[in-house]
Amino acid sequence: MRVLKFGGTSVANAEAILQVVDIVKETAQRDTNIIVVVSAQSGVTDKLLKLENLILQDPSACEALLDEIEKQHTDTLRALIPVPNQATALANVIVKCQELRSIVKGASLIQEVSARTKALIVSFGERLSAFIISQAMHYQISDTAYVDAREIIKTDDSFTQALVDFKLSNPLIQDCFADTKKMYVVTGFIASTSDGRSTTLGRGGSDYTASIIGAALKADCIEIWTDVDGVMTADPRFVKEARSVRSMTYNEAMELSHFGAKVIFSATMLPAMNAQIPILVKNTFNASHEGTLISNKRDKDSHPVKGISSLRKMALFNVEGSGMAGVAGFSARLFSTLSLNHINVILISQASSEHSICFAISQLEATKASEVLNVEFERELEKGLINPIELEDDLAIVAVVGENMKEHTGLAARVFNPLGRNGINLKAIAQGSSELNISIVIQERELEKALQVLHQSLFDHDRQKLHIFLTGYGSIGKRLLEMIQEHESYLAAQKIDLQICGLINRNKMLLQANEIPIQDIAEHLDKHGLNAELSEYVDGIKRLNMENSLFVDVTASDDPTPFYQPLLNHNVAIVTANKRANTQSFAYYKSLHQTARSRNVAFHYETNVGAGLPVINVLRDLQAGGDRVIRIEAVLSGTMNYLLSEYNASEAFSSLVAKAKEMGYTEPDPRDDLSGMDVARKCLILAREIGWEIELSDIQVEPLMNDEAANANDVNSFFEELKSYDKPFEQEYTNALAKQLRLRYVALLENGKASVKVMQLDEAHPFYTLKGTENCLSLTTKYYQKYPMVIKGPGAGVDVTAAGVLADIIRVAENRSR
Ligand code: ADP
Ligand code: ASP
Ligand code: MG
Repeated sequence: MRVLKFGGTSVANAEAILQVVDIVKETAQRDTNIIVVVSAQSGVTDKLLKLENLILQDPSACEALLDEIEKQHTDTLRALIPVPNQATALANVIVKCQELRSIVKGASLIQEVSARTKALIVSFGERLSAFIISQAMHYQISDTAYVDAREIIKTDDSFTQALVDFKLSNPLIQDCFADTKKMYVVTGFIASTSDGRSTTLGRGGSDYTASIIGAALKADCIEIWTDVDGVMTADPRFVKEARSVRSMTYNEAMELSHFGAKVIFSATMLPAMNAQIPILVKNTFNASHEGTLISNKRDKDSHPVKGISSLRKMALFNVEGSGMAGVAGFSARLFSTLSLNHINVILISQASSEHSICFAISQLEATKASEVLNVEFERELEKGLINPIELEDDLAIVAVVGENMKEHTGLAARVFNPLGRNGINLKAIAQGSSELNISIVIQERELEKALQVLHQSLFDHDRQKLHIFLTGYGSIGKRLLEMIQEHESYLAAQKIDLQICGLINRNKMLLQANEIPIQDIAEHLDKHGLNAELSEYVDGIKRLNMENSLFVDVTASDDPTPFYQPLLNHNVAIVTANKRANTQSFAYYKSLHQTARSRNVAFHYETNVGAGLPVINVLRDLQAGGDRVIRIEAVLSGTMNYLLSEYNASEAFSSLVAKAKEMGYTEPDPRDDLSGMDVARKCLILAREIGWEIELSDIQVEPLMNDEAANANDVNSFFEELKSYDKPFEQEYTNALAKQLRLRYVALLENGKASVKVMQLDEAHPFYTLKGTENCLSLTTKYYQKYPMVIKGPGAGVDVTAAGVLADIIRVAENRSR
């Protein structure tokens, strides 16, 4: 014997009902004794509730809504029942609608809609759908009886949230379904008082109807047919990665649904659990999927967490004060006051000091709760024994549920760490003593982010997804995106999922919650982009508030610098090839790093010095291993190195600079290189990286040009002025050559002093043989004293820089998994 319950979407229209008929037919081949419980067609209960409101607010609008409801049902019926048999069935539907119309009319006249009338009005949804489906089954399968559950399920008179009287109901149910040869279609959701007044079991209560009937008849199985593949690890509307759970215990299902998983009504589990009847949750629209089996079997080997659910519109109360500690009966008074006023407490958390109790209730009941508590504790409040009761609303509760959680150490870290890293503030935490559930109160606006973060951390632990907001779409930005595509299989193997959700260049910007496909990103930006405005772009990133957000700066501009701090404050990680932020005042540098550290959010900039060469990470690793940097010598400018290594006095220095400019080796204004400031900035970053608290102005910089050239009005006159530097430069070169020394432009850090200047080096020096645009660093440390560590290679170029940025991005993804 089986009870099959079909929800609103499963009976939404004739097409869906035909699927239902097929499922019942198929089940009937295995089990002849079948009871089908149905919900109202989807949307109908909402329409009936709207109708109840209209009676008082806008009675003239009722008629149109009533017509709409009638048409929906007659259309469905016409599509399901053979024409010759339609008349009686249609008449029945119209009579039911007529009855509804007169109830609405009556209520409009007296302008009163009592709870009793409300339950009666809403009962039509299930009555209409069950009747239509019973007819469809009658004509398509076999003799089928329509059963109005008000005849068999008896409740108290809390009309819209009635409590079932099992003693009265069970014998009625057993009598009603005594003929086991027959097929039945029963209305879900509705019931009646012992004297026959209509009641309902609460929103979503049709599942409960199925369970009440199943338990009374000792069914073999209660099947809940809905529109998803069973109970899933999270609400699939908010977490698209949610997947269905094969099995769970009654307790787990109860806890998940109690905390908002709408897929099954939480009271459903109780009758089934008492009678030890398994509940199978299946998808009407994907019947071959195995769905979820809910029973008392606890699978010790399964995932410790079964699901994450959530409740919105919550309010949190905090009651505290010195007068509470050690006073017996204080919490009893508090909670009985709430209970006497029918206020349902969803979560409680009390600090062990007993100075404060914090509890969450529905926001709709917050004002009432405040009132009744202020009355109950009037005396204590007056005497200052308790502080004024604090209330915070617009909150949500997220519950992580699983019976096996208690056997898993480290689970709490996987819940709390990623929330913290994503900047989600926890207002209260409660863990039930059964350790079945960890509940967390957060701000409602953070809910979707929190669900994503938790789902990834708990169920996709080894997959790392980053939402990337790229800033700068020049040669490096473009190459970076190409590389992400080229790396697709590597990234997939590492389970790293890099999703570009934002892009800005000088003209346009694009931001979206869904991934922007890389292959046509340029077109996309062109077509759909808005005018670029960096501050709006950054605001948009914050507003999207996506988990694991990463800002990637591949500009060389000062513009993004002021946004680093607010982004980090918002827990958006940063990867930057741009040196500007790290070379601001030490105070700014320090504050960026402190924020990143305290918020546990990544801030990586390996390409700031030596492009793709490993420099920053090497310095960090050395220091982390207890090493101490004594001296750094470094050639950090490809341009300067090109000029110094190419020069052989056969042509003037100024014409070599002109040639380098032509070949694109220098900045458009070569003074940006020759001033030494670019090297000084890199030198500053190195200094700060080894713990020096210094400013750019503390670095002694010797430019590779004369003052007149440096101060020239434009690039042309610069070249003119540079000619007077040709002679002194040649002199320096020949002097060095005579001593068999070579000139190199070097950043030097030693004894707390930093300088950048031309140095004369002998052939034993690692920089002596440097060619072209190579960079090289020589690190003398406590452990690398006799033979300094040398890092050498191309220190500029689109490929190496983009690859360095990508490596930083992957580093962010990998840290996320911890
Ligand atoms: P029915 O009308 O069949 O009773 P409901 O709309 O009441 O269906 O419940 C099914 C819906 O519950 C799904 O479509 C899904 O959007 C939502 N839902 C929320 N949480 C979960 C979850 N953890 N697993 C599956 N579905 C969920
Ligand atoms: N039709 C009712 C509702 O929408 C009951 C149910 O679908 O379970 O709440
Ligand atoms: Mg439901």
